Amino acid sequence: MPSSVTGVIQDLERILLTPAQISERVDAMAARLNAELAGKVVTVVALMDGGLFFVADLLRRLEMPVRLYTLSASSYQGGTTTTGEVKVNWPANFDIRDQDVLLLDDILDTGLTLSAICERLLAQQPASLRTCVLLSKRRERLREVALDDAGFEIGDEFVVGYGMDYQGRFRNLPCIGILNPNPAS
Ligand code: 5GP
Ligand code: MG
Repeated sequence: MPSSVTGVIQDLERILLTPAQISERVDAMAARLNAELAGKVVTVVALMDGGLFFVADLLRRLEMPVRLYTLSASSYQGGTTTTGEVKVNWPANFDIRDQDVLLLDDILDTGLTLSAICERLLAQQPASLRTCVLLSKRRERLREVALDDAGFEIGDEFVVGYGMDYQGRFRNLPCIGILNPNPAS
């Protein structure tokens, strides 16, 4: 770990996924997409901010031409429980009609976010839609989402790091971990 983040790592109860484990899995996810989407131009729709590191790491491993839209979506209001309402910032020029779309997000939890976004994407009639997440939580979904790939299945615990935050913090951790309920800082 870079020494600059060791202080923040003390705020973790435990590390769930190391940078090496994440990297190895992202390699495999990219290899699969490179095989399945070879010869296509892919329009990536990436959810921010939590997906920032996953998207950056996956995209630089993709070999086909790629277009990128980033969306900000939130069903969280800064805490650890979902509000149920999904807010999305759609870019003014957003147009995916007849395109091969790859939707990327950090975590599939209740399914509210991705199902709301998939519905809006499908309404624009893309040629195809694939949905990949880095983490899929093992829990009951409020809305079903058809996933094409998930990096890791994890328990129903609140995670931070590798782009994912708690109240705006911890995104810069290179690993993914469970927060210490009594953080030192
Ligand atoms: P869903 O709509 O599926 O309940 O939630 C999806 C979004 O909630 C994810 O894209 C992610 O931004 C956020 N989220 C869900 N679980 C966690 C978690 O354990 N940690 C963090 N930091 N964000 C989460
Ligand atoms: Mg998110």
